[in-house]
Amino acid sequence: MAIADEVADVLPAAGGDTPLAQQVALDARRRARLHGQQLPTPPETRVLTIANQKGGVGKTTTTVNMAAALAQSGLHVLVIDIDPQGNASTALGIDHRSEVPSIYDVLVEGRPMHEVVQSCPDVERLLCAPATIDLAGAEIELVSLVARESRLLRAVDAYLKHRDAQGEPRLDYVLVDCPPSLGLLTVNAFVAAREVFIPIQCEYYALEGLSQLLKNVQLIQAHLNPALHVSTILLTMYDGRTRLSADVAGQVREHFPELVLRTGIPRSVRISEAPSHGQTVMTYDPGSSGALSYLEAAKELAVRAVDGGDA
Ligand code: ADP
Ligand code: MG
Repeated sequence: MAIADEVADVLPAAGGDTPLAQQVALDARRRARLHGQQLPTPPETRVLTIANQKGGVGKTTTTVNMAAALAQSGLHVLVIDIDPQGNASTALGIDHRSEVPSIYDVLVEGRPMHEVVQSCPDVERLLCAPATIDLAGAEIELVSLVARESRLLRAVDAYLKHRDAQGEPRLDYVLVDCPPSLGLLTVNAFVAAREVFIPIQCEYYALEGLSQLLKNVQLIQAHLNPALHVSTILLTMYDGRTRLSADVAGQVREHFPELVLRTGIPRSVRISEAPSHGQTVMTYDPGSSGALSYLEAAKELAVRAVDGGDA
């Protein structure tokens, strides 16, 4: 961090001759600062479920990029993919063909998590428990199993203990990428986590469905997991050129002033291209505005926890 700050400080200060020169200088300083950042470790492993009942709002994109940003900032991070689509696994460059041991085996067969976890090839300290297409059947298979709502919780707890016993570094963050529906898979994610992290797309229907999601969180809290709470909201796909984006962002901030991260994620082609290269935008185009925004959001998430803002 110190080195990054030094680099940022020797770059020309904003105040160049033209607005463009000023912007370029500002961007360079921001880049240097964020890329060298070392984020604080939380007092204990933070388990967050990335949830929103709407599809296509940026859950998976946020899961993988926040995870990569946290890992690039020195933290140990595990992504658990419980969406049968396996998009998070794809974006992290993780093999998830149907024969690969996966979170399906963990949830349905009781296989230990350490047997399915893989390392992300592009980002150090970043692990992933992949989802395969088998998971599509798990929703039904889970119904008849013992402790069907808490199988993920047990697997995560056992995995953290296993790492400890093996002398492996403690995980700082576990991020669970959920499917859009509220079935047993999502319930398992809500039971395993303490925190719910909600990405909200800056679009007209953004707030619809949110009250249902909050109700579901309350239900889980009342019956299955008293510690569960919404800790973080991130505005995604923000388009600075449209009035609508600004209006939606304003509304969400007004309703949830404590929860919304100051940093929003801009709509960016680089973010949407990255998964087709089996990468997050954090390695696909590290200097892009999308990557820098995720680094900034990761910083807010990590610093809040340590400052006692939330955790
Ligand atoms: P979900 O997991 O909620 O269904 P995704 O993360 O898969 O949503 O995102 C839906 C689509 O939007 C994907 O094609 C993704 O690449 C794209 N997308 C997500 N965030 C951004 C962004 N900030 N800018 C541009 N495209 C984005
Ligand atoms: Mg998804």
